[in-house]
Amino acid sequence: MVVINNEKLEKYTTFKIGGIAEKFYIPQGVDELQQLLKCIEGEERYILSGGSNLLINDKKIFKNVISLQNVDNSIIDYSDGKFYVGASVRIQKFINYAKKRGYGGLEFLYSVPGMLGGLIAMNAGRGEGWNQSISNYIVQVQGIVDNQIKTFEKEECNFEYRTSKFIMSDIIIVGAVLQLNKDTPDHIDSLISERMDTVKEVQERNKANFGSVFSQSNAKIMNIVRKVGLGKKKGVHFSKKTTNWLVNEGKGTYAEALALIKVVRILHKLFNKKCTLEIQIWD
Ligand SMILES: Cc1cc2nc3c(=O)[nH]c(=O)nc-3n(C[C@H](O)[C@H](O)[C@H](O)COP(=O)(O)OP(=O)(O)OC[C@H]3O[C@@H](n4cnc5c(N)ncnc54)[C@H](O)[C@@H]3O)c2cc1C
Repeated sequence: MVVINNEKLEKYTTFKIGGIAEKFYIPQGVDELQQLLKCIEGEERYILSGGSNLLINDKKIFKNVISLQNVDNSIIDYSDGKFYVGASVRIQKFINYAKKRGYGGLEFLYSVPGMLGGLIAMNAGRGEGWNQSISNYIVQVQGIVDNQIKTFEKEECNFEYRTSKFIMSDIIIVGAVLQLNKDTPDHIDSLISERMDTVKEVQERNKANFGSVFSQSNAKIMNIVRKVGLGKKKGVHFSKKTTNWLVNEGKGTYAEALALIKVVRILHKLFNKKCTLEIQIWD
């Protein structure tokens, strides 16, 4: 087990903002994760995968943060498009692995900088109208509950738009079985290129961000927010290019991000529109 004392969390988030982990654990396998959970039972703990959907308080010290980057990096081909994938596997690695074996379906996730466990917990996918989420391909999920590995059938996972039963729960996803569709490597490659071309055009990916801030918001309000690029130029502000994205110019703070989120929420309240936060906040 790798344990780092007083580790800066900003290094592990795509938004480049975060506090300190008093103990930053990197278990090297599921067994080590289980041993660790036993040791810190009853203590506050936070689970980190790709850190691409997290806004972390930069003024806080978090007692225990567990990075799942090395918990399970395995992929097993069960044949006929069925695969076991460990929680630490980057989604691009899995898409490429399955492509070589003539199976696809997840190309719409190629632009997501997360690990399988994080993608499942967040039920990552395309915008609501597209009806394309990772849960469409999930057969079952393996998670640690009360320090035992339990299998959850898809129906038990409570998948909804950008959420699942695993968010804000005590369950840690360690892997999953997915069923992909038969496809040709050439066609899969063209879908990947299409996706990457689209995101290059519409997303401000050259600056620190965590993807969409809200899973539900009013398009007109968010368009106005986008056009004015709400916020300061030097710190955190709403992207002028990408609707519903906050970007950090480099010196941004947690307080700035929270204040902007609050303004958007007030605007929605003022016009009686629904607004649901997508990003996870470690306060
Ligand atoms: C450039 C960019 C593009 C993006 N594009 C998309 C997109 O197209 N579609 C989309 O849906 N999202 C998108 N996102 C948001 C983000 O990448 C997704 O939400 C992704 O699923 C988060 O995965 P992660 O591994 O980074 O999770 P993290 O950010 O590390 O964690 C997210 C949450 O899940 C919990 N969690 C993580 N792993 C586990 C686990 N194994 N078990 C239990 N809980 C866990 C964490 O505690 C946290 O609450 C984008 C983000 C960026 C920066």
